[in-house]
Amino acid sequence: MPVKRSARAPWSKVMIRSQLEVVDQVRPPSLVLKNATYLNMYVKQWKTANIWIEGDRIVYVGPELPDQAVEMIDVSDKYIVPGYIEPHAHPFQLYNPATLSKYAGERGTTTLVNDNMLLFLQEEEQAFAQLDLIQQLPTSTYWWARLDTQTELDRESVAVDSERVHAWFNHPDVVMAGELTAWPRTLQGDDELLQWMLDAETCGLPVEGHFPGASAKTLTKMALMGVHSDHEAMTTEEALCRLEHGYTTTLRHSSIRPDLPKMLKGLLESGLEAFDHLMVTTDGSTPGFYEGGMQDNLIRIMMEAGLPAIEAYRIVSLNVARHFDLDHVLGSIAPGRIAHLNILDAIDEPRPSAVIAKGQWIYRDGVSLFPDELVEAIFEKMPATDVAIDLMPEDLSFSMPVGLDMVNSVIMKLFKITHDTGQDELPRDEDESFLMLLDKEGKWRLNTVLKGFAKDFGGLVSSYSISGDYLILGKCKQDMLKAFARMKELGGGIVLVDRGEIVAEIPLPLCGMTSIEPIEQLIVQEKQFQKELRARGYQFEDPIYTLLFLASTHLPYVRATPLGIYEVMKKQVLFPAILR
Ligand SMILES: [Zn+2]
Repeated sequence: MPVKRSARAPWSKVMIRSQLEVVDQVRPPSLVLKNATYLNMYVKQWKTANIWIEGDRIVYVGPELPDQAVEMIDVSDKYIVPGYIEPHAHPFQLYNPATLSKYAGERGTTTLVNDNMLLFLQEEEQAFAQLDLIQQLPTSTYWWARLDTQTELDRESVAVDSERVHAWFNHPDVVMAGELTAWPRTLQGDDELLQWMLDAETCGLPVEGHFPGASAKTLTKMALMGVHSDHEAMTTEEALCRLEHGYTTTLRHSSIRPDLPKMLKGLLESGLEAFDHLMVTTDGSTPGFYEGGMQDNLIRIMMEAGLPAIEAYRIVSLNVARHFDLDHVLGSIAPGRIAHLNILDAIDEPRPSAVIAKGQWIYRDGVSLFPDELVEAIFEKMPATDVAIDLMPEDLSFSMPVGLDMVNSVIMKLFKITHDTGQDELPRDEDESFLMLLDKEGKWRLNTVLKGFAKDFGGLVSSYSISGDYLILGKCKQDMLKAFARMKELGGGIVLVDRGEIVAEIPLPLCGMTSIEPIEQLIVQEKQFQKELRARGYQFEDPIYTLLFLASTHLPYVRATPLGIYEVMKKQVLFPAILR
């Protein structure tokens, strides 16, 4: 039985004694913000005070000024708010936890609550070594513990069992269980999953649901099983239904579901006055979506929708801290909290002009002061991609009678293939492409057809996929072979080839899933890739999500998984993958 520890009080006795000495002016604080107009979350008012920081902690907020301080600045003309918190980050969407922490932190989002998915599939020792190093960043990082893998894996090495789940539950940085994509299993009677949900409760971890389109009845049942929150509302009605059923409701604004403005407007029009159980998330958007910022952008959107500024700032700070039972260390400006502070030029300008994280300046006067050497140290601990296999012409033989037809970026239905797939090229005036999923270790392959992806392109290869296997798409087998060879040369990545030329590429040398480039640079690469692909007929919201989720079994209706063509509702393999 797991017993939850808590590393939620990160300070030792010695550190606390020395913080007390600072309050008594035996020693000077490391930083003082003088004449600060700050948002006091507990009385919901702007107050004026001097804020004393010692090391990584706020030690005093009040009228007194110390005789001395290592650094003291007057912030009379500024507004100070707590660092923002993203409660639901997927930190491996081409970027990685280190590059995302930096980019988010520089824009005021100083705490991320991260999906553990990619790490969950690694050996625990290796995964936890990365968590330890990430903890050394000036930003704060907490993690989810998944209860399922979102796809049908073939590898025994990643068996999701009680031992693995409990090891994650017991890790000090883990603050929630979920997201629970496999919830239908619990309703169908899977008691192992229900037991893990109960174990999460024992460990003090709220369980997050993943309930797109769920009825009131389903929400009721999942609440009985102990689910605390959900971020899948897509309409005002769905958001209200979750709130009324007692769920902490996370409104989403992401690259595939940019729903926040209309949902929040609707909630305000419905007369909602209680915002304490609302959070907001960008839900692992692809890099380009973050050009407008992270939680700072969502605050702006909430204020534009008519929400009072104080409520908007609370939703991204205290509400999240409370939900994860972290409000004694995060989410407000008060004695004892971690010193995450955003300095604003105006209340209606949520992008900070300076950011303090764990008491250090990480952004000031338009310059990043984020410690890049720590970011690079984290790269060292992440597994490098090893593309050890080759794609052979004989692998490209397609005889499956059915394929996947795209309903949107991520939803696929089954269709009967009518074209002759025995040829080297498929016609470019039709929207059917070859689709192959190739085992990372080269043991099996699944060859079928994808309809609706794009008409006029040569070959597209991606090491970025939910199962970690290679996706090979295209109209022309020669181009597909070339794209694979280039992806291998890059040591992982996404490569688009057309008529023999490489037209766009995104190198992903860590785990085959993530880039070592700063997010600003990644945005440039991603835009180029999207532009070239759209010019060739891709018509949906987000091609990166299409690649990621082709194998995901938490989405309807049929998927290309490592086991084969898979029908989600019936949990059935329709056509198995074949051995190479
Ligand atoms: Zn999500």
